[in-house]
Amino acid sequence: MLDQNFRQGDAKSTPFGTNAMVQPAPVDKIPDGPTTPEVAYQMVKDECFAQTQPRLNLATFVTTYMDEWATKLMNEAININYIDETEYPRVAYMCGKCINIVANLWNTPETNKWKAGALAIGSSEACMLGGIAAWIRWRERRKAQGKPYDKPNFVISSAYQIVWQKFAELWEIEMRTVPLTLEKTTLDPQEALKLCDENTFCIVPIQGVTYTGLNDDVEALNDALDEYNAKTGYDIPIHVDAATGGFILPFLFPEKKWDFRLKWVLSISTSGHKFGLVYPGLGWVCWKDKKYLPGSMAFSADYLGAEVTQVGLNYSRPAAQILGQYYQFIHLGFEGYKNVQQNSMDVCNYLHSNIGAMPQFQNYSPDVPNPLFCWLMKPEYQKTAKWTLYDLQDKLAQHGWMVPAYAMPANLQDVVVMRVVCKQGFSRDMADQLLNDIKSGVAELDALEYPTTTRIAMEKNIPLKPKSFNHNGR
Ligand SMILES: *Cc1c(COP(=O)(O)O)cnc(C)c1O
Repeated sequence: MLDQNFRQGDAKSTPFGTNAMVQPAPVDKIPDGPTTPEVAYQMVKDECFAQTQPRLNLATFVTTYMDEWATKLMNEAININYIDETEYPRVAYMCGKCINIVANLWNTPETNKWKAGALAIGSSEACMLGGIAAWIRWRERRKAQGKPYDKPNFVISSAYQIVWQKFAELWEIEMRTVPLTLEKTTLDPQEALKLCDENTFCIVPIQGVTYTGLNDDVEALNDALDEYNAKTGYDIPIHVDAATGGFILPFLFPEKKWDFRLKWVLSISTSGHKFGLVYPGLGWVCWKDKKYLPGSMAFSADYLGAEVTQVGLNYSRPAAQILGQYYQFIHLGFEGYKNVQQNSMDVCNYLHSNIGAMPQFQNYSPDVPNPLFCWLMKPEYQKTAKWTLYDLQDKLAQHGWMVPAYAMPANLQDVVVMRVVCKQGFSRDMADQLLNDIKSGVAELDALEYPTTTRIAMEKNIPLKPKSFNHNGR
């Protein structure tokens, strides 16, 4: 019998009693008619249900835990578009305050009330903005000198994050890379300078190299560059890609010089959504002074009857992350950030020493300057092992952990490593659970009678393509 209170197609019972739950979900075409929010919610929710718990995702650098107040605050701001500065002037003001705070954490010498910087959706956009600004400054100088400016290049280590490849390809800029080796695990300043010429518009050291967690030595690069610029008459600057380190160094290694205290560091970018402790997507970029941010990068639009000036690749963007960042600054303060970052480091060091002590493994580096590290199989063990780190990745996934195994970049591509990023929300107790799962996984693999598929592939030199794992960019 037809219930007259419902129109056709409405649910008449609990979601799991509806027709929709025994139909395939739409893939190609929008469904003809509506379904109830309860059913739609359940279907969307359940599609993600079998995935890993974000806090067990040790592959990502991006925040997977915020407290309830932050979550509430951000959810309540979910309907605010950042770009509507006229309608939401306090959000724009709050963003300016965040930029000031970040610039000061990086020891900006700028004396203006509002420091030169920009909001971004993540480090990728922030890196692009820093790179573009350096490119434009170089181009303007070349134009003024009557010199050609059609062959720009920048220099970076081969362990660059994928954004720099995008930057090079999309803007038709040449990327010159300094290959890393097992001995030289970070950017070598002299090797970087060998790649420079009059068309080099910046060098990009990384703080928290995505592959390894190590820091390029910015101070050594700055000093070598100072000499080089004096000798050549160039003025090649530094943009620091501090996606990770930008929120670690100021709190844990405040005496280390890597930031605006160095002469040639003119811009720095970071991810607010990594160790800035905010959910994605949020990035920051700052310049040492307004004069390094080309005026041509600020676009003004007459929008909804007001003049909006903005530096950024996106236009509309969420405002909630700004509220989340400002909340974290107020709530944690310098001491609170320091405690959270130190805890991540302590848990990371604990794992580093325990995994490094296993007979099968060795750490890639003895240094842990950021709360992440990678390890590899001991070469002598690897000779006889019947398995690879890709198999261990699978074993850990059975327990819900996402711990990626991947090959190192060009020059080191035969070296397969495994990496963990220790973030807020990953405690010592969880680290112990992970260690247990690693040890029992290794014991099972060690007991194998026959080699695994990935091991056979490695033997035959068939390139190993780890399923859908993209370590580079997380
Ligand atoms: C993560 C990362 C990026 C990209 O950052 P997103 O915030 O994910 O856009 C760039 N550079 C480095 C060194 C990174 O670790």
